[in-house]
Formats: sequence, structure tokens, C-alpha cells
Amino acid sequence: MSGDIEKNGTVKDADIDNNVSSNDANSVSAEKFADVISTVDTGTDGANDVCGGTLYLVSTPIGNLADLSSRAIKVLREADFIAAEDTRRTGRLLAAIGVKQPMTSYHEHNKKESGERIIKRLMAGESCALCTDAGVPGISDPGADLVALCAGRGIPVVCIPGPCAAITALAVSGADTHRFVFEGFLPTEAKQRQSRLAELSREERTAVIYESPHRLKKTLSELRSACGGSRKITLCRELTKLNEEVIRTDLDGAVSIYSEREPRGEYVLVLHGADNKKTSISDWSCITVAEHVAFYEAEGLSRMEAIKAVARDRGVSKGIIYKELIK
Ligand code: SAM
Repeated sequence: MSGDIEKNGTVKDADIDNNVSSNDANSVSAEKFADVISTVDTGTDGANDVCGGTLYLVSTPIGNLADLSSRAIKVLREADFIAAEDTRRTGRLLAAIGVKQPMTSYHEHNKKESGERIIKRLMAGESCALCTDAGVPGISDPGADLVALCAGRGIPVVCIPGPCAAITALAVSGADTHRFVFEGFLPTEAKQRQSRLAELSREERTAVIYESPHRLKKTLSELRSACGGSRKITLCRELTKLNEEVIRTDLDGAVSIYSEREPRGEYVLVLHGADNKKTSISDWSCITVAEHVAFYEAEGLSRMEAIKAVARDRGVSKGIIYKELIK
């Protein structure tokens, strides 16, 4: 993950032009933050007490230190130990809030053994605060596996809600937020990836996708091939950080922007839903005949009806579509 929380609470990254919207007033220095933290009232009425034998999922900032909640700070201060996806990164966060609780590492490559050790301690009555690299533990990170282990053993799990890259991007995207689907990272394996892209080409709900900078160009170009260049997309980069940027464009525009500049930082892609009712013949040129037929079948048409509809859309005979399908 790039763009760590720096010591001064700001993120040092590219001086890339913010061509749509920018936010350079959202960072807070560690000193100022420590001042604020010392005055935080986390309650004395017992309602927010940290209980033994409980796993706390502590949401942490996705870039801006000031987004850490007072409840999160209380749990980090009072939990018996902290399980961290990256102990150095969480260590910096703990240093900024003056917390010195012991840490243990829990990440993708040790989650089996470390998960069992954490479970043992929870069952012995200790409380554990889980922090993943950023955001809400369990969302596209190994936190979900630890929660599943706890659920299987009847161990209570409490989530301290907070910043989440997916929801932050969705909120700012300008896309329809009534119905949406969270895709996380698209599969890397070729066959699974193709079928996911084909699903996205037909998806009417807004889709939220996580992407790393080094795969961004490939993903944008594959999305364009699958969904057509006119499908709207919002690219959300470096959310809550100094170089926060929100680009509302379509897939042709996104591919063109990144043919002229190199992706940097962290991205969430918000792909607006397909407007299937308005799909015209020109849109179909971006997908295969098989995907086109599958689209109508997913709409509830029989195979013969789907072939007929595809032939009509493409202005060819049913026989041509049929031959194409059995190739
Ligand atoms: N659990 C996290 C959450 O609640 O958002 C997500 C973890 S996932 C391993 C990391 C991905 O989230 C990144 O690759 C990127 O796609 C997205 N992400 C995290 N922070 C971001 C930020 N500040 N701006 C844009 N995307 C971000």
C-alpha cells in the first residue's frame, strides 16, 4: 500500500495536477493531533468499555490521521493486545496517539498460525484490537478470516466503524448509490477475470472496484473492451490525502487520461451501472457474440429468443449468430 501516514500526518506523494477536484487542507500534524487526542472524552459511563474475550475490529484512517475516531482510540488504548496487518504501519499510528499496547502480527501469509494464537488468547479472556493496513478490517483484507474463526468459536466480535475506501469513493462518485455491488480487487486469473468483466458489462448496479496503480491501465482498458467506451466511471485517487483526486469521466476518457500520465497512489474505481435499456448496436461491438447472447439470457430470454435479439441488435441473420456460437 503506498502513501503511508507520514510522521507529520500528511501524505507525501506526487505533485500531480488535480484536474477535477482537490483537497490540500485535509492533513493534520502529529503534534496537533496528539493535543486533540489528550482531550478526547471516551466516556466513563461504561457503555464503551472494552470487554475481555472480545475481538474489536478497529477502523483506521485511509490517509488522514484526523479520521481516527475517539472510540477507536479508546479501544486501542485499552485492549490487552493489538493484532496488526503491518506492525510498523500500525506502530506509527499508535505512536501518534501515545498508545503502547503490545502488538502481534496478523497478515495474509501468517493468518492461519497467527489466527489460532489470537483465538487462544481471546478464549483465555484477553481483548484484542485488530487493525489492518487502513480502513475497516475485513474489507478486502485478512480481517475477514479472523472474524470467521471467531464466529466459528462463538467469540464476540465488535466493529468500531470508520473510514472505508469503498464507501468514501462511492459517496463522492456521483454514481447511483441506491444499489451497488462491491467487487474489491478483480481476479487476476485470466478465465475468472474475463467472466467477471463480462458480468460487469451487464451489471446495472454501480460497481466499486479496488485497484493498485501498477494494474490500473490494464484494468481500465479491459473494462473499456467489456463495457464500451461510453460507460461512465469515477476514478477516486488518494482519498482523504493531500493529493486526493476525483475524476468523473467515461472509460474512453479514463484510458486516454492514463495514456498521458502514470498512475500513482491508491485507487478506487466506481463503475456506473449499465443502462441496458438504452444499449444500442454500437455498444455491442465491444463484446463477443457469446457474451451478447448471455446478456439476454440473464435478462430471462430463452436461448432462441436471445439469439433472435442478438441478430436484431447486430443487423445479421439468426443463422450467423448460431454459427458464431458453435464455433
Ligand atoms: N480495508 C480497507 C478499506 O476498508 O477500505 C481496504 C483494504 S484493500 C487491501 C486496499 C485498497 O483499498 C487499495 O488497493 C485501494 O484500492 C483502496 N484504498 C485504500 N486507501 C485508499 C485511499 N486513500 N484512496 C483510494 N483508495 C484507497
